[in-house]
Amino acid sequence: MPTSVLIPLLAVMPETHWYDWDRISLWLQTWAPIIFMGLLVFFIWRTMRMMPRTKPQEIEPASKSSIAWSDVAGADEAKGELQEVVEFMRDPARFKKLGARVPKGIMLHGPPGTGKTLLAKAVANESGARFYSQSAASFVEMFAGLGAARIRRLFAEARKNAPAIVFIDEIDAVAGVRGSDNNSEREQTLNQLLVELDGMNTSENVVVIAASNLLEKLDPALLRPGRFDRQVLVSAPDVTGRKAILAVHTRSKPLGLVDLEIIARQTAGLTGAELANICNEAAIGAARDSRDLIVQSDFDNALERVVAGVQSRRALNDHERKVVAYHEAGHALAAEVLPGVNRVHKVSIVPRGRALGYTLNLPEEDRYLKTRDELINQMAVLLAGRAAEQIIFGAVTTGASDDLSRVADISRSMVHEFAMGTTIKSLRISSHGGEVSDRTREMRDEEQQHLADQAMRLAHQLLIQYRGKLEQLARHLLDTETLDRDAIDEIMGDVGAMPLPAGNHNLRVVATSDGA
Ligand code: ADP
Ligand code: MG
Ligand code: ZN
Repeated sequence: MPTSVLIPLLAVMPETHWYDWDRISLWLQTWAPIIFMGLLVFFIWRTMRMMPRTKPQEIEPASKSSIAWSDVAGADEAKGELQEVVEFMRDPARFKKLGARVPKGIMLHGPPGTGKTLLAKAVANESGARFYSQSAASFVEMFAGLGAARIRRLFAEARKNAPAIVFIDEIDAVAGVRGSDNNSEREQTLNQLLVELDGMNTSENVVVIAASNLLEKLDPALLRPGRFDRQVLVSAPDVTGRKAILAVHTRSKPLGLVDLEIIARQTAGLTGAELANICNEAAIGAARDSRDLIVQSDFDNALERVVAGVQSRRALNDHERKVVAYHEAGHALAAEVLPGVNRVHKVSIVPRGRALGYTLNLPEEDRYLKTRDELINQMAVLLAGRAAEQIIFGAVTTGASDDLSRVADISRSMVHEFAMGTTIKSLRISSHGGEVSDRTREMRDEEQQHLADQAMRLAHQLLIQYRGKLEQLARHLLDTETLDRDAIDEIMGDVGAMPLPAGNHNLRVVATSDGA
């Protein structure tokens, strides 16, 4: 705008030169306020346009992206619970006749990628009720008070159009413990949500479903009776669930010789989203080779990609390669020799993602309980990489930082959660942020250190005992860059067969001592 005004102005005054300061300042004095006002109006107009519309988004039943119950596999408990809600929405009289209370709020919780949003979409599709979906992040706006207004609007709309389902995704964004930070906008929003939940009465046929990644971080007020009183855990699938999820995601893909059962067994701990990702990567891999069918090796490669990241082109010098090879060989050896840890599926010194080398350990079964020995062994496996560097090269590198932080995690939970330290006194006193004395904290730190030391000693000991095997594994890695199951079996020979070397009393004692 300024230039377009300036040019005609200069044109009518031919004597005026661009360097004539007096005239320019005069011109500025006349026009600057007007330009300023103009800009101001423009920015206000733009801000108004950027203000989000407060109308909640309604998902039409049977919308384009229709997700059916059959698209959700594995999460049986959550599915059952939600199917019940759908039944209720379809035929409330049947339930009310028997005096059953309507579920008002259902909280789906579990790690990301386990299918919470997917479940809600299936509900939207199958219930026949109106479905209002909003991500909680959209409540937290830059304009104060808008979040609360949006909540009010959302619930008003749902009530007007009952029977209706309100779905609030990623509720963690607004529902953290109040007072934990200074975001009053978020607090207002949460308060409004609580008001709406309390204001709903059971005759209204409005059900609220929310999804959270971490229940413990939510404000406890939300979980009180009469609010989200039904909490449904959506956890990472077990082996049957994984097989079913793989089946769902390969339904429309041409499969060659593929055994989903094997893949399901190799993927313990992975979520539905990661499994979906593996299926997709496998298809991409087959397309890259211009094949018509997806085969088992596509899935193997895809699994590696998803778990370990994409191969990177980082070049290591010879010494670095050697260090990485011994480091990974150390992990592999420890995982072979110690009982109760995940066995090695594949070792590689081809850099992937941020890792320079990696050892892929895949659990053979789903395990929920672990003994103290097994946890110490697990730490020893993690520390064996560093220990190998120490034994072979006499120095440790920075490459073990990820291993170390995982060891810290394990030892921390051992002391704080499972009371597997040396004294029962260090058991956490109360579960929710109870105050702990400095003395207790110090004691816990010591115990943690003690457990890690114990694991480190164990790692050292077994590497020294099997140093020949360590050298063999590392040399194989340096030659071929990878070690797969067959190669490991061949090198380990008879050693792999027995869980712990018989007669080695020392090792046994370290592994089982209670560290007193
Ligand atoms: P969450 O909301 O729990 O973080 P999502 O529902 O967004 O997870 O899941 C992401 C994707 O992962 C889904 O779109 C789906 O493709 C896949 N997925 C996750 N869980 C399952 C499941 N139980 N069955 C089938 N697919 C799943
Ligand atoms: Mg989600
Ligand atoms: Zn390591």
